[in-house]
Amino acid sequence: MKTKFLSYFLISTILLGNGMKDGVYIGTGKGYKSDIKTEVIIKNQKIEDIKVISSSDTSIISDAAFNNIKKDIIETQGLGVDMVAGATSSSNGFYRSIIEALKSSGANISELRKIKKEKVLKKEKRELNTDVLVIGGGGAGLAAASSATENGANVILVEKMSFLGGNTILAGGAYNAVDPKRQKPMNIEDSNELFYKQTFEGGDKKGNPKLVKILTDNAYSGIEWLEDKGMKFKDDVFTVLGALYPRSHKPIDPVGTGFILTYEKFLKENNVPILLDTQAKKLIIENNRVVGAVVETPEEILTIKSKNGVVLATGGFSKNIEYRTKYNPKLTENILSTNTPAATGDGINLSQVVNANLIGMEDIQMLPLGDPKTGSLSGNIETTVEDRIFINKKGKRFVAEDERRDVMTNALLNQPDALLYVIVDSQVYPNENDKNNFNESIKELVDENRAVKADSLDELAKKLEMDPEVLTKTIKDYNLAVDKKSDEFGRKLFGKKIKKAPFYAGARIPTIHHTMGGVEINENAEVLNKNGEIIEGLFAAGEVTGGIHGTNRLGGNALADITVFGRIAGEKAANNK
Ligand code: ADP
Repeated sequence: MKTKFLSYFLISTILLGNGMKDGVYIGTGKGYKSDIKTEVIIKNQKIEDIKVISSSDTSIISDAAFNNIKKDIIETQGLGVDMVAGATSSSNGFYRSIIEALKSSGANISELRKIKKEKVLKKEKRELNTDVLVIGGGGAGLAAASSATENGANVILVEKMSFLGGNTILAGGAYNAVDPKRQKPMNIEDSNELFYKQTFEGGDKKGNPKLVKILTDNAYSGIEWLEDKGMKFKDDVFTVLGALYPRSHKPIDPVGTGFILTYEKFLKENNVPILLDTQAKKLIIENNRVVGAVVETPEEILTIKSKNGVVLATGGFSKNIEYRTKYNPKLTENILSTNTPAATGDGINLSQVVNANLIGMEDIQMLPLGDPKTGSLSGNIETTVEDRIFINKKGKRFVAEDERRDVMTNALLNQPDALLYVIVDSQVYPNENDKNNFNESIKELVDENRAVKADSLDELAKKLEMDPEVLTKTIKDYNLAVDKKSDEFGRKLFGKKIKKAPFYAGARIPTIHHTMGGVEINENAEVLNKNGEIIEGLFAAGEVTGGIHGTNRLGGNALADITVFGRIAGEKAANNK
């Protein structure tokens, strides 16, 4: 290690010696959301420190990029570093800001780029022992780790990315639960029976009724459980896309960060080891029982023995093209997805050594509201189903916008260029700095040309290159439907009319969002094999599992699912002595 460091130092001193001057230099680079401003400190012709001065990227994700890149640059005194997977925009922005700063110090950038960190060729081996091993640090894994801890188990959690959060952190944050405390003041009548019926029927009755019942009966206590750990939800509920009913809870913290930060704090307080950059490669089986996993970090191969069992919480497979097309040949590479690159279905592979049963693998959900460039959820200007409509490129509505996600996406696929515009008025955004569900202000979206703003419907139609008469008639007819609470498409959820200028439009396309299929579990979150038998020691929760959502997951039900079943999986694994 010492010699490696010395050689970096020598190479860099030779290379930098005649370029970089001591001082403090500032650079900027475009991150995920906006510019990242960075300060680079050069002392004795060495890069001594790198500090981010300002950034508005999601900190859990961008911090991983900043810390890893900074560490590698300072350690190697070179710029041949890897970007952080899943945090590419933050990585690139940060990297560019450092280059800009170094350029003004007189550094020879092309030489610095040649200095790379040596990869560890022979990894050290080590064994760790615990009660419960949780694989995956998204919402389900963190819930399982927290619950296992509360149930007295020693826990280790491994996460293959450089940061926690998985798809959970990218979600809008909507969590469905029947909650009279919040719904009654809004005059919303609801019941666990209605929640069950909508979830079960919304998935074409293909979900396991017992699991659906557990989900719908326990969703609210999941909210209380999170609140007990310090998580905060808003006082009112809304209807998220495809939720079918106003029972979606919205965290105070932006997107899915509230869930992740809450669990992370709890686990840290309880000294639970969270191993990042650590990928599970193989389950360990002894006497027909799962007793741990072999995991790999950039430096080590760890054998983690967990005597009570393993919780698989590795998420879905929307980003695994081979799997996607195997189960649905239409979902080819060119179709974008909302998901993190980590959603590769590792849990499906891992579980096959114990013959885990896979169910519903062909049920892959597309949303009609992906960003046209990236497929991501962000940039969506809708805030609640009740207050917006969808129009096609001709300016006409084409579907009930409170329908199931699959119904809306199928309708969109039949429209010109399969592109829709979400239309809202300024009652949804009374202030230009008001934010959508993804922590982006409408002003920011308009400035970045991701949304269109117009002072009249005529102007909006012109900007969207459609016939103003058609758009005006569409809006007039819709406003009449709001009065009647019914329309030609069978929409049921009506809120505000679209009438107050300025008006806003945002283009959206179909995008792959959620894989409803996965490993089969029972009511105890135990994984079943292909003969319907319990696989001893193997538990699973979250998107890696199948059999809960049937053919179509309701919007807002995933966060409830990962909380309810993550909690059960952790508890059962802890008690599986
Ligand atoms: P869920 O909503 O079910 O929790 P997420 O996508 O939020 O799903 O989280 C799944 C997490 O599991 C992601 O953070 C992902 O990086 C992680 N993961 C996937 N495969 C592995 C693996 N083989 N080893 C460790 N972590 C993994």
